[in-house]
Amino acid sequence: MTRPAAIGLRSVHKRYGKSTALDGLDLEVAEGEFFCLLGPSGAGKTTTLKTIAGLEEPDSGAVELGGVDMAGVEPYDRGVAMCFESYALYPHRTAYDNLASPLRSPRHRLPAHEARERIGDIAELLGIGALLDRPVGRLSNGQRQRVALGRVLVRPARAFLLDEPLSHLDAKLRQAMRAELRAIGSVRRTTTLYVTHDSVEALALGDRIGVIRDGRMVQTGTREELWHRPYDTFVARSFGRPRINLLPGTVTAEGHFRSPDGAYELPLTVPAPPGAAVQLGVRPRDIGLLGPGKGSGVEPAGTDRGTALELTGTVHVSELLGRATEVTVRIGGQQLSLVVPRADAAGLRPDRPVRLSVP
Ligand code: ADP
Ligand code: MG
Repeated sequence: MTRPAAIGLRSVHKRYGKSTALDGLDLEVAEGEFFCLLGPSGAGKTTTLKTIAGLEEPDSGAVELGGVDMAGVEPYDRGVAMCFESYALYPHRTAYDNLASPLRSPRHRLPAHEARERIGDIAELLGIGALLDRPVGRLSNGQRQRVALGRVLVRPARAFLLDEPLSHLDAKLRQAMRAELRAIGSVRRTTTLYVTHDSVEALALGDRIGVIRDGRMVQTGTREELWHRPYDTFVARSFGRPRINLLPGTVTAEGHFRSPDGAYELPLTVPAPPGAAVQLGVRPRDIGLLGPGKGSGVEPAGTDRGTALELTGTVHVSELLGRATEVTVRIGGQQLSLVVPRADAAGLRPDRPVRLSVP
């Protein structure tokens, strides 16, 4: 017998007046899994967590925890711990007291030595072990957010529901905390549903990722599946900066992609019916720069060099992204974005021809 999912949502609908928050959402999180729910603002992420926690009742559909239907089960009987975007701490009490208070509730009361041990472990994992005696009001924002997260993680729970817990931190702290959260996930092996609008965070953290849009799950899978086999252009555009190039064109009789003006053809990696209007997705970092081109304009077709296809276009703009440079190239009527090491882009001049390789 297979184990029931730790968290299961079956076609959950939820409306607030005229606005639909969840529109038949399906979700399954396995026991011990770190699952990231990724979606833009307003997609229904917070509503999903509240529905699981029992803070909102679905209009229809079912929420199951460990295979048990949660209809009519009170929030405190569901055994999940939820962390909200905005967190409330007791500013005059110490970090230790703030971490300890959830363990003083009758429901989670632990013997004193066990509570101390748990708090110590969590504080260590979150890097606030040395701050436990300080009043929370005297901690930095980042330290406070760690305490808030600790307050959730310290509770014995069957699942953690984390709602954009790093959103108030600066980029550097966010990166450090990502590593810690990942460590916590692999040490504790407690089922975690982690909500974010940041695809980098989702890719860094999730054993699996679900992409939510307009209250529906568009696709779930591993990061590799979502990156290489996006279900649609929304998912494709959700991952990677700069964004994936989406080039409109048609499929030739040989099953190749053909640009609208016929400037180039590329072999397709997935079968497509001849004559179909399609969009070809090419990640900016997958395109190589071969060097300045010879001609003064567009060469009519790509040349197949075995593994890579060569294209010639004109440099449109280039922009520094730290150690790399984003180059926009015009080929025929289309624009292609690519990212190359800064040094490789040094010789590029606007409106000059450039040769590219597409694997
Ligand atoms: P997310 O967390 O992904 O940003 P939410 O779950 O908060 O999205 O919201 C989903 C949709 O439901 C949005 O259109 C939002 O405006 C609406 N919504 C959420 N909560 C309420 C509420 N309490 N009253 C009215 N509309 C709400
Ligand atoms: Mg939200």
